[in-house]
Amino acid sequence: MSQRYVRVQATNGSIHYGLLQLSREVKVLDAPPWLKGHLTDLSLPADGYQLLAPCLPSKIVAVGKNYANHAAEMGTSMPSEPLLFLKPPTAVLAPQREILYPPQSQQVEYEGELALIIGQRCCNCSVAEAGDQIWGYTVANDVTARDLQRRDQQWTRAKGFDSFCPLGPWVVREISPSARLQTFINDDLQPVQSASIDQMAFGPEALVSYISQVMTLLPGDVILTGTPEGVGAVQPGDRIRVEIEGIGSLENPVVRRQ
Ligand code: MG
Repeated sequence: MSQRYVRVQATNGSIHYGLLQLSREVKVLDAPPWLKGHLTDLSLPADGYQLLAPCLPSKIVAVGKNYANHAAEMGTSMPSEPLLFLKPPTAVLAPQREILYPPQSQQVEYEGELALIIGQRCCNCSVAEAGDQIWGYTVANDVTARDLQRRDQQWTRAKGFDSFCPLGPWVVREISPSARLQTFINDDLQPVQSASIDQMAFGPEALVSYISQVMTLLPGDVILTGTPEGVGAVQPGDRIRVEIEGIGSLENPVVRRQ
């Protein structure tokens, strides 16, 4: 199994980056791994921490309609170049924490996605250079208030609610280019989304290069690479689980925001 890089909160409240061991013990690093964090003498036992989202991005750059079958289910054609939008860093949510169903929406939907973690400052990089800027990969859920997305014509409100960007459970350095992404609701064995990530129209390197022509990407920034077909609504009380082969699974319950 590849090395799993986590961010955790210890029982005493302190927050650390670390390496997750098969025993579930976490060996603590003195800085984020993409900033060359080194191992310390500290380790946390399996019952001595909670997982947090694995990075703290300055921004989350997301890509709309990057799988042809999802563009088709939305009744739209594929864009000729990547369609970008931003989610605020305050939307980030840890594994197992609650997605808050806001009172402004009657149609909150999941979007399982592969997330890229940027390793170094990256501005105006070529496609050939872009691979070196991608430090690793994790799982994301681009939660969307679909009714507000339609009503507003643009996506800031629909995509930007607190808790609308579950990330995790950890970062790995490598994944198979044809890794399978699947989304499950509650205990259903049948996935609601199932696609190979090589069905993306614009691949990870093309996206990083394209975005870096617009805005400087910083270490720990997150790129959401788009969702395949099968998006659908959830209700308070549901649980959403997004799995990517070779990374792991990201599960979050949905609760009504009071
Ligand atoms: Mg999306």
